[in-house]
Amino acid sequence: MADTSKLLEYAKKFIVEEDHKISLKDYDTDYDHKQLTKEEGENLLKLGVEKLSELQGKLYVSNRYSVLIVIQAMDAAGKDSIVKHVMSGLNPQGVNVHSFKVPTSLELKHDFLWRHYLALPARGEFGIFNRSHYENVLVTKVHPEFILAENLPGIEKKEDINQSFWNRRYKEINRFEKTLSDNGTIILKFFLHVSKKEQKKRFLERMDDPAKNWKFSYADLKERALWKEYRKAYEEMFENTSKSHAPWFIVPADDKWFTRLVVAGIIYEHLEKLNLAYPTISDEQKAVFAKAKQELTNEIKETNGVAEN
Ligand code: ATP
Ligand code: MG
Repeated sequence: MADTSKLLEYAKKFIVEEDHKISLKDYDTDYDHKQLTKEEGENLLKLGVEKLSELQGKLYVSNRYSVLIVIQAMDAAGKDSIVKHVMSGLNPQGVNVHSFKVPTSLELKHDFLWRHYLALPARGEFGIFNRSHYENVLVTKVHPEFILAENLPGIEKKEDINQSFWNRRYKEINRFEKTLSDNGTIILKFFLHVSKKEQKKRFLERMDDPAKNWKFSYADLKERALWKEYRKAYEEMFENTSKSHAPWFIVPADDKWFTRLVVAGIIYEHLEKLNLAYPTISDEQKAVFAKAKQELTNEIKETNGVAEN
């Protein structure tokens, strides 16, 4: 049986250190196939999911922290599959997944963080942002017309969207996350790092698979053509927004089983550190339990031979 210590290897390996300028080409998209076989990896994931489920119970009862998981990636990198496989063991009552799309006209009438505030997890719960507030420094950077649609003061034409505009946005995001973190939200941010080659393979597979072809949109090819621009936006975002209280992890995403394992391992490690526990029972409560037990036992004696329904 795999042991949990193996789940603790990934955070330090894939974290983006605070204020580090990074280049995505220095990060692997595939798994090196040396440490684990796929089968071992899948067993370890199973263990990780079981552990997360135990921790979820304690998170709920201790009612002190919430957990926000942010997932960002290029198309077909496996965002949905992370939600499905890593969160599969959790009690659905305590997990909310939000998939953020192009903002609606109502959302555009508010500041860019508004819709994200509304979707945050309550204390004791998990929230998953499948795409997130980070789209506001990614897709909007590659397509500045989205910013113009926000109707912001002083931003009337594309030339107004300069570096100081983006720096302000990073600051606003950092402030938002710092407030959340100070108030008990554990924030973990994952970039699923898929190669352009693997994306092509997955697009082709999607189109050929009747169960998946609804996922393919011609617009995805237009975004693919902007690969370099997205990379630049991602790199700048990592440098400006990876913080010790809200770190980014760049997770290899060409092998789906490995991606899931890394994400589960990192969440497990961060929750384990909180030392969550079920509340201890006081002597007074123990006495109440003893009394209740006695009453239930007597009740069974009294109703012996009579069907209890
Ligand atoms: P899949 O990988 O299954 O295609 P998806 O997350 O790409 O899932 P889609 O409905 O295809 O889901 O796309 C959602 C789109 O919404 C993405 O192109 C994303 O860039 C866009 N989007 C999300 N947030 C914003 C935002 N704040 N401003 C503009 N566009 C946004
Ligand atoms: Mg898409």
